[in-house]
Amino acid sequence: MTPTLDVFVAGAREFLRSVSAAPRNDSVASSPTKSRYALFSGSTEEEIVAATRYQRAAYDAGFGWITGPVEDGGAGLPPKYEKAFAATEREFTIPSKGPLSVSLGMVAPTLAQFGTDEAKSRWLRGLRRADFVGCQLFSEPAAGSDLAAVRTKAVPDAEGDGWVLTGQKVWTSGAHYSDIGIALTRTSDGPRHRNLTAFVVDMHAPGVEVRPLRQMTGAADFNEVFLTEVRVPDSCRLGEVGQGWSVAIAMLMHERGAIGGSASGGSGLFRMGDLAEWINAQGRQDDPAVIDAYARVYSGVTAAKAMRARGDANLKVNGVPGPEMSLGKLALTANLQTLSDLVSVVLGPKLVADTDEPQAFAWSEFVLSVPGMRIGGGTDEIHRNTVAERSLGLPKDKLPRA
Ligand SMILES: Cc1cc2nc3c(=O)[nH]c(=O)nc-3n(C[C@H](O)[C@H](O)[C@H](O)COP(=O)(O)OP(=O)(O)OC[C@H]3O[C@@H](n4cnc5c(N)ncnc54)[C@H](O)[C@@H]3O)c2cc1C
Repeated sequence: MTPTLDVFVAGAREFLRSVSAAPRNDSVASSPTKSRYALFSGSTEEEIVAATRYQRAAYDAGFGWITGPVEDGGAGLPPKYEKAFAATEREFTIPSKGPLSVSLGMVAPTLAQFGTDEAKSRWLRGLRRADFVGCQLFSEPAAGSDLAAVRTKAVPDAEGDGWVLTGQKVWTSGAHYSDIGIALTRTSDGPRHRNLTAFVVDMHAPGVEVRPLRQMTGAADFNEVFLTEVRVPDSCRLGEVGQGWSVAIAMLMHERGAIGGSASGGSGLFRMGDLAEWINAQGRQDDPAVIDAYARVYSGVTAAKAMRARGDANLKVNGVPGPEMSLGKLALTANLQTLSDLVSVVLGPKLVADTDEPQAFAWSEFVLSVPGMRIGGGTDEIHRNTVAERSLGLPKDKLPRA
């Protein structure tokens, strides 16, 4: 029987109380533990373990896949329950789910949409329970914005009913702690968008090699992934042969939806009250430049919330995220940039000098990670093209691209 929303929230609160150290008190001003704000900071082993433990406990308590079909291991509840749970989570100090964002926000929904029964029963529940972690094997050295240019080949396996994959992927977030990856491959020559096929690749299979890439924050959150004659059973194919482009588009839409959600506060970075408290603690509240920068963040976040509400309403009607999700991603990068400006104005030289002051380093790591956000999940230029063409109906970009 479906619980009432009140009963559900009361249960959620009880669960969150049992797994969190204390009700939320991690304000930017006061928390000694909030030492990292970087977006692609390279999750530490500890952060990965904490995220995994939390997700597993949430799943076992019925909060790990609230809207998922019961037969696949979900709780079978409407989206408003998921929203209510997310709002309740924000009342508590819980581990960041960042290390699992690709796995839960992109890999699991794409597998649920396109996976064979065999692949779903093998991986889906485990992904939702964080027994497995998934990554996205799309970008290649010569295929990023123009994703349809992927060269990784998948050919039928002469020795079995499956496929043999060979090629190189790049910028694969979290590949170093992933168990599976969704790979976009070329299965035949011919028109770019009609000869692609997607697969679930076992990241522990022979022939998969993961090499870390270091970014300017100093961390290494993404990787090069080399696939050398990796054998993949046909049951791990997603969608029809040659229809990989539809799978890719669906996964990118999930990605945009997941990223866009943080434009208005989902990531916890845009808690305006906490930011005000932090500015006061720095004694910078009367500086007109600080007030101006704060107002810019405030208006951007408020606009993003309204846009997000519109995207959610469309999602409710259409069932899948639409091109307007690009606006969410653009809003996020714009808001992160204004936050980066605010932090820089408040901290001034402390941002770059190692003064041992609490959080100054955390914020410099954040400022260095913001430019990557304009690229990951589709660049700003590509999202503007998407909005122009698919939402506004403007003429198509003449350059070949995804
Ligand atoms: C933090 C981060 C995490 C990532 N994680 C993953 C991941 O997990 N899995 C994965 O597969 N990939 C991942 N990526 C890769 C990401 O998807 C690509 O970097 C992105 O799609 C851009 O591709 P590119 O780097 O090849 O740049 P290019 O496509 O070569 O673009 C270079 C520049 O040209 C511009 N440009 C290109 N085409 C056009 C056009 N038609 N019109 C206007 N301007 C254009 C771009 O906007 C950009 O400024 C990640 C990237 C980052 C930064």
